[in-house]
Amino acid sequence: MKITGKHIADLLEHWAPLSLQESYDNSGWLVGNPIDEVTGVLCTLDCTEEVLEEAKLKGCNLIVAHHPIWFGGKKRLGSHYTDRVIIQAVQWGIGIYACHTNADAVETGVNAKILEKLGLKNGRILSPNYENLQQLTTFVPVQHADEVRQALFDAGAGWVGNYSHASFNTEGVGTFKGEEGSAPTLGRVGQVERVQEMKIEVLVPKWKQREVISALHKVHPYEEVAYFLTSLQNAHQQTGMGMVGELNEAISWNAFVHLVKSEFHVPVVRHTRAKGDVKKIAVCGGSGSFLLNDAIRAGADVFLTADFKYHEFFEADGKIVIADIGHYETEQFTSEIFCDLIQEKFPNFAVLKSTIRTNPVNYS
Ligand SMILES: [Zn+2]
Repeated sequence: MKITGKHIADLLEHWAPLSLQESYDNSGWLVGNPIDEVTGVLCTLDCTEEVLEEAKLKGCNLIVAHHPIWFGGKKRLGSHYTDRVIIQAVQWGIGIYACHTNADAVETGVNAKILEKLGLKNGRILSPNYENLQQLTTFVPVQHADEVRQALFDAGAGWVGNYSHASFNTEGVGTFKGEEGSAPTLGRVGQVERVQEMKIEVLVPKWKQREVISALHKVHPYEEVAYFLTSLQNAHQQTGMGMVGELNEAISWNAFVHLVKSEFHVPVVRHTRAKGDVKKIAVCGGSGSFLLNDAIRAGADVFLTADFKYHEFFEADGKIVIADIGHYETEQFTSEIFCDLIQEKFPNFAVLKSTIRTNPVNYS
């Protein structure tokens, strides 16, 4: 089977929909044509010139990176390091695709990987996304209700937390009169029809809307399908920023530092004053200081993240221990997630993890 860039993008976007990316982000296709055949994929945290060379050397013409190499619009390409990457990629015919804050936002993403490395259980999103959920209400003749309901579930509707097939159903009487030009499934043109109908209500995440509505149209027996979508204010517990989880049992601060140093290969942990044992840990890959209050509210003993500034450390104020281990360090395993996803779907295809340490920060 010929694998194209679109196959890879569809797979990643099914896992982490692009609509989940933050407004400042630039996830998705950056360089190249998605319809081109892919000879091999190289997964990385950052797409640097060295990584491009590695891709060329290993015969990969697509790079899947966590960080987009640029965020805003570019008016010209010059000698800036990001410009050099773009020019080189185009010259060598290598595509670049980024999966960034959308990969942060899913519960099997960047932060789940950190929980996994620390051996944390009962993981949940620290700051769930709002305004990602809609309620779909539709009306269907009673005898077709099961079929329509199932089609909605199959298309991704009806999830509440870890429960699937969630719906609310009320039976009632629907009325309609087919006017000129109509071809009613039930009754006749020009006659008011009364039909025993089921009102089905389900939740639909926004990024599933198109699939769910198209499934509804496919199975619904009426010429005109009556439905409405309502935007909800509810939090969507399966998407958002940061995660929190627990160790099987509490460990001492020193044991925690040892665990972090060995799992994340860090020489040093920058932290606020230690305060007793550690069991509940909040994490955020990359710059996570904006989640400090969520981590405190979640009752975490430690908040493991990166990019805290001097004054922000004071905000811990004895309520939590901030442990800053570095941006690269928290996200270094992200490329493993991409590799595993692609490998699982396309087992006979070359998917490699970059061996280049792209961290621009050094410790001496
Ligand atoms: Zn990052």
